[in-house]
Amino acid sequence: MRRKVERTDEEWKRELGDEEYRVLRQKGTEAPFTGEHYRNSDNGRYVCAGCGRELFSSDDKFDAGCGWPSFTKPIDDIEKKMDTGHGMVRTEVLCPDCGGHLGHVFDDGPKPTGQRYCINSASLKFKARK
Ligand code: FE
Repeated sequence: MRRKVERTDEEWKRELGDEEYRVLRQKGTEAPFTGEHYRNSDNGRYVCAGCGRELFSSDDKFDAGCGWPSFTKPIDDIEKKMDTGHGMVRTEVLCPDCGGHLGHVFDDGPKPTGQRYCINSASLKFKARK
């Protein structure tokens, strides 16, 4: 599948920080309650740390108590993929432009969507609304 943003593994490794690379390119998960965006309640948008695409809005952010930034919905299209790793069946969430791993989505979120996008801070950069 052709991506809007394509890099070789070597290029990603060079461009991204270690933790960003581990999460985005190797589908890693940061330790809960450690990420820089978990407690952020400022107004703004969260963009992909890999390619800059706008992904989530602070309007849709909520505290799920799980230790990762959580959202009820993405700003627009987002890529989803079935993930059967670690002995679980989960829905993986990826950036549509660069294919970077963001986190997972669960259907135990609050109304109105009932969705909980559980996203690693390392995969996001925050842009404050002016
Ligand atoms: Fe991206």
